[in-house]
Amino acid sequence: MIILSGGTGTPKLLGGLKKIVPEENIAVIVNTAEDRWVSSNLVCPDIDTVLYTFADLIDERKWWGVRDDTFYTHEILKALGHHEPMMLGDQDRATHILRSELIRDGLTLTRSTDELRSSFMIKAKILPMTNDPVATMVDTPNGEMHFQDFWIAHKGEPKVLDVRFDGIDAAKPTPEVMNALSSEDTIVIGPSNPITSISPILGLKGVIPILQKKHVIAVSPIIGNKPISGPAGKLMRAKGYEVSSAGVAQCYEDFLDVLVVDRGDNCVIPNIEVVKTNTIMSSVERSMELARFIVGLVQSPKR
Ligand code: GDP
Repeated sequence: MIILSGGTGTPKLLGGLKKIVPEENIAVIVNTAEDRWVSSNLVCPDIDTVLYTFADLIDERKWWGVRDDTFYTHEILKALGHHEPMMLGDQDRATHILRSELIRDGLTLTRSTDELRSSFMIKAKILPMTNDPVATMVDTPNGEMHFQDFWIAHKGEPKVLDVRFDGIDAAKPTPEVMNALSSEDTIVIGPSNPITSISPILGLKGVIPILQKKHVIAVSPIIGNKPISGPAGKLMRAKGYEVSSAGVAQCYEDFLDVLVVDRGDNCVIPNIEVVKTNTIMSSVERSMELARFIVGLVQSPKR
């Protein structure tokens, strides 16, 4: 199964999927537009969460970082007067150090991610969307800021005027991403933020034309008029979309065939097939149930 991912909703689904599908049959195309260098190391929040999910290390309370990690280095740096823009755990930092060493040795982000995948003994393919730098920038009344500054330093509070992806026009999807997208008839978009997690992947040249030739199934991250977590509502509104599953369908209108929405969602969406199931992954069992449902749709799509 080929699945497009950000760093919370889709990894929750992957936690269930890896228990019901052989891991080597899964390829995850991951957003990199939230990546950022912190204290000389490249932090890739979405790739890291996907790695830790497959490695059974993810902190499932926060959906970032390593479970039971310590923060000594982060705190000592702060005491020394160096305030990092993101909380980085000590074990988590080891991943960033190794990745950055590999990149300084000349490896691409794709190759360095594959080295990490192998070190964590993961069999699924984890494919960064691009090897080129892309940065999500949020325009607010206080000025434009990196998404991480908006979300962490400003706690997601400023009004959002616009969102743009710095570097997206020059960035190329990797050959590994293009091969993965070409390799199957059905592509799944997980329940991720359509603006900050999925639209950077869609913004890479050539991705939408491939999706238009495929059967595309997306899972809505919105129930009623609210996301389950995170800033998707605010960001969708800023981009002119209704905050609803219908709004999610609109984000994907160029290629979407099926939208999976929660049973409790009374959305009405013209022109696409809407299927209902329980989409709230409050436990690994619920993630497995949703994963089973999606596998069923992929294996026997109504066309
Ligand atoms: P980010 O990179 O941390 O923003 O993570 P994603 O984009 O992958 O996921 C964020 C989205 O996941 C939010 O819009 C949430 O509404 C959605 N989400 C989180 N938990 C669940 C869940 O259990 N079910 C569904 N359907 N969506 C979820």
